[in-house]
Amino acid sequence: MVYKLNDFIAQKIVNFIHKKSGFEVIVCDNNGTIIADSAQARIGQQHKGSMKILTTNCDSVAITPLEADASGGRIKEGLNVAIEADGVKIGTFGIAGKLEIIHPVAKIAAGMVIMMLSDEELKDNIRSQLQALSTSVDPDASDQLSNREIVIELLKSTTDSINFTNENHAEIYQMIESMNNLVFKDTLTGIYNRHYIYRKLPIDIISASLSEQSLSIIISDIDFFKKVNDTYGHLVGDYTLKSFADTLSGCIKREGDWISRYGGEEFLICLPGAGVEKAIEIAEHMRRTAENNVILYGKNIIKITASFGVCSTKPATNESVVNLIARADNKLYKAKNKGRNRVES
Ligand code: GH3
Ligand code: MG
Ligand code: MG
Repeated sequence: MVYKLNDFIAQKIVNFIHKKSGFEVIVCDNNGTIIADSAQARIGQQHKGSMKILTTNCDSVAITPLEADASGGRIKEGLNVAIEADGVKIGTFGIAGKLEIIHPVAKIAAGMVIMMLSDEELKDNIRSQLQALSTSVDPDASDQLSNREIVIELLKSTTDSINFTNENHAEIYQMIESMNNLVFKDTLTGIYNRHYIYRKLPIDIISASLSEQSLSIIISDIDFFKKVNDTYGHLVGDYTLKSFADTLSGCIKREGDWISRYGGEEFLICLPGAGVEKAIEIAEHMRRTAENNVILYGKNIIKITASFGVCSTKPATNESVVNLIARADNKLYKAKNKGRNRVES
């Protein structure tokens, strides 16, 4: 990685060291120009000591008390050291003070610049990747698998390479969370999307099987939803979908249970550890709550019902996701055919 010193980081480090130590400090860029100065007086000037470090083999230049005296106060006793990244000098750090005291301070400060640079570089990287993702990922589209894979790879490599410091970890975690939300959350309802189902359900099925428990899924589809759109318009339809998703979410309480939008007006609820009886009870609760819910949008009063298909894996069996969803879908169609607003298992 090629690091480039920027004024912002240079000034930040200069302020920090000056505040903590009381010494005057400067940072020069790779041309020997002062880009940060605790006294704010010499920014833009060429620094001789810095130039010497950058153009020769030496890593530091000291101004001895004798030299300082001889200059008549023009230069101060102090030390300039190279700021080095991957063996390349990218600038210098200078500090004025008694040489025996400031020597370690200068070395540490030069190292801190590199640490801060790599943090900033990393954050910038994540920011730009987030930016790219937010314009390229449509979480509702089912053909975005390659994007998903890219993000997963990215998350893996980012988390592997991050040097979590107290200063940046909250921000980085938040960025990773945003990336996950972009890929795995449905923008309209705020619940998980179809990608999440195909990522999480296989894991939950295997976990349930290993712990010899069953796992249940519920697939729910709003009844005659097309009529809502046709009668009130798509905006009200969208609002109704969000409201229905909230209703379903309110009916699951156990940690580990999750809800997702399978597509359109169809939702999938996963209940790891729940047997079929428990899942039917939850689906029935969802059905009743949706039926009794009154959705208000402006002057419109919208009432909907939904149908539910429930199915469970047998304890200690490893059923495929496709199979499990197909079975639940069959039950859902049974519920539709038997008159809707019902649960079938
Ligand atoms: P059924 O009881 O058989 O499920 O009837 P239905 O009308 O609910 O089913 P159908 O499959 O005929 O229509 C589903 C409708 O859902 C049609 C589609 O426009 C609407 N829909 C799907 N996604 C969205 C969405 O994101 N917003 C809105 N407003 N409507 C959506
Ligand atoms: Mg429907
Ligand atoms: Mg449908």
